[in-house]
Amino acid sequence: MGGGYGNKVKNIQIATNGSIVPSKETLEALSKEKCTVRISDYKKENTEKVLVDKLEEYGIKYKKYDFAGMKGEWNDSGGMDYVSPVNEDIFSKVLECSWCMCYTMENGIIGRCARSIPARSLQNIDIKREDYINVREPIDIVEVSKYFMFIHPMESCKHCKGSNGEPIKAAVQIGEEE
Ligand code: SF4
Repeated sequence: MGGGYGNKVKNIQIATNGSIVPSKETLEALSKEKCTVRISDYKKENTEKVLVDKLEEYGIKYKKYDFAGMKGEWNDSGGMDYVSPVNEDIFSKVLECSWCMCYTMENGIIGRCARSIPARSLQNIDIKREDYINVREPIDIVEVSKYFMFIHPMESCKHCKGSNGEPIKAAVQIGEEE
């Protein structure tokens, strides 16, 4: 990273499901002081063992991630047609939501959480412009600062159970159920 930006970035965390081992060049880059690899712990034997061995070989910091509830489980935040009660305290729900600062960018659009991004197209939600940041449009730095400093419910939050939904087994949806 050139100029003074390298000093402003305090840490870099790379999230992975542990199934891919990076190239030698990437491993060398990850061995820098500020980098940590976060491996989602799906409780499946040997999924990440090869990766962990490599990270240790290169002296790369890593940690296992037990998901938002820290219990090794996911939480059901509702299906595509989930509609929450109209009298719900949406502010409280968002402030209690473990994902409300899980900022996610896809195709130049940043939302407060990963669910809020596909919600725009899949849930047929009448979205508000202030719910997202479009990095491909001219950016007002004050507005961007406010976006990250103040948690605010998005329209997608009204169609979501947040992180307090029923616990469900992690990742059985993409692999074999035991
Ligand atoms: S959309 Fe759901 S998961 Fe995302 S911040 Fe709102 S309540 Fe939380």
